[in-house]
Amino acid sequence: MSGLCMAIRLKQAGFQNVTIIESANEVGGTWFKNTYPNAGCDVPSFLYSYSFAPNYDWSTKYARQPEILAYFRDVVDRFSLGPQIRFRTTVHAAEFDPPSATWRVTTTDGQTLTAEILVSAVGQLNRPQVPDIPGLDSFSGDVWHSACWQHDCDLTGKTIAVVGNGASAIQFVPTVAEKAARLLVFQRTPNWIHPLNNYRYPGWARFAFRNVPWCAKLHRLWIYVASDLRILAFRSGSKLNLEYARWLRSRMRKKISPERWSELIPEYAPGCKRVLLSSDYLSALSRDNVQVITDPIQRFDARSIHTGQSSHQIDVAIFATGFKANEFLRPMEIKGLGGQRLHDVWGTRPRAMGGMVVPGFPNFFMLYGPNTNLGHNSIIFMVERQVGYIIRSLRHMLEIGASAVEVKQDVMDGYDKRVQHKLQSSIWATDCTSWYKAADGTQPNNWPGSATAFWRRMRRPRFSDFDWSIQQNPLITKKGEGGN
Ligand code: NAP
Repeated sequence: MSGLCMAIRLKQAGFQNVTIIESANEVGGTWFKNTYPNAGCDVPSFLYSYSFAPNYDWSTKYARQPEILAYFRDVVDRFSLGPQIRFRTTVHAAEFDPPSATWRVTTTDGQTLTAEILVSAVGQLNRPQVPDIPGLDSFSGDVWHSACWQHDCDLTGKTIAVVGNGASAIQFVPTVAEKAARLLVFQRTPNWIHPLNNYRYPGWARFAFRNVPWCAKLHRLWIYVASDLRILAFRSGSKLNLEYARWLRSRMRKKISPERWSELIPEYAPGCKRVLLSSDYLSALSRDNVQVITDPIQRFDARSIHTGQSSHQIDVAIFATGFKANEFLRPMEIKGLGGQRLHDVWGTRPRAMGGMVVPGFPNFFMLYGPNTNLGHNSIIFMVERQVGYIIRSLRHMLEIGASAVEVKQDVMDGYDKRVQHKLQSSIWATDCTSWYKAADGTQPNNWPGSATAFWRRMRRPRFSDFDWSIQQNPLITKKGEGGN
């Protein structure tokens, strides 16, 4: 999603020599890989799409994965990006070469590419995490992670264990429950569930989006404003957060029997973990063939899964246990000035100014990097702001004839201090576990404010925040001169 956005905007700005390196054999990233039943996006599609490439034909408010993937494929065609994408190519390492002010990018199949500018667009949720549970290797049934769904395994009439009850699990559990003979959901922590209330766009609405001036734009704006205001309900200890908890609690209580309230309704503040949107997950848990198990899993053997209190013979184990979200850019080896490794510079907490730039790594940008994740708005909005920032910086580079640009250390430190300070009093710092927190309790993923606050910060680069190496790079020529 971010790589396509960057490439399109670069081309529109006159930078024609753009290559996208993609490890998969298809575009779409998370929307190509996550094909579990009923996969979809809980951000409304009018907002979870590029502002410069509207789709007037979304079938529903919240589109499902096949429609979202079709959108990204269509965008590739609309902007003729196909020839610029190298599929089935995985970046192994990238190293900055100061004399030429270029990056040498090596891939796992031994290719080397040279580029003046390197942009990482690998996302935060691209490497599945499967817990290391004793005996799992010896389990003889089918096992997979939600992001690698095995569609050739027929679940009809089987006994299935689902480990985890996060954003992915709540989407596929209702469908799997309809097929399974028995479905065991292993829940470690309950989640707040907000009704999804999805609806179809009628034909007249789609006609209006396409034909009535400003109709689609206003609809998107309305969704944006409504989404961004939700951040107000995610202020730690605020009256609005308490009210939101009360409202969610009463909605959830209506869906489940009183003896299950303590098991399924959280105690922590809503927003601490991502609030999940579903209108059918809680009713699926009330089916006769579904059981929620809250004892911690202790081990597997060839046929069964065991907790401290019970053992269950199962045919299939599905891990909906999330992603290695705190390990930004791993396992790529990125080396900047003096051969310093990005992962060494970061240590246990990845950080970057604007989630994009790190001192010591000139001409290197990240999209959806550290501290740019949201729990209430569209990541595409955030990435578009970063892309705009990067292109303005590159234009400035051309204007002043700079060969390299690098954020200043004190700017990075000041920015990071402010972000971390705000995060310390955020809802995500309160009493719950989530992928928003690293093992040491720090928060490398989330942006601490509204999407609008990020837009304000990214609107215009402060060129004095950067060191610009003025040494004409022969590889960089101005727009219209046949350059890169
Ligand atoms: P997740 O939200 O990180 O949930 C992982 C689940 O696995 C949690 O319930 C967690 O329990 C459980 N778990 C992890 N390790 C475990 C272990 N060792 N034993 C037992 N349970 C364990 O992962 P996800 O559901 O894949 O979602 C990840 C993110 O992807 C979401 O937060 C969201 O940003 C994105 N996503 C978005 C959408 C969308 O509609 N936009 C849809 C799907 C995913 P604890 O809660 O106790 O840690």
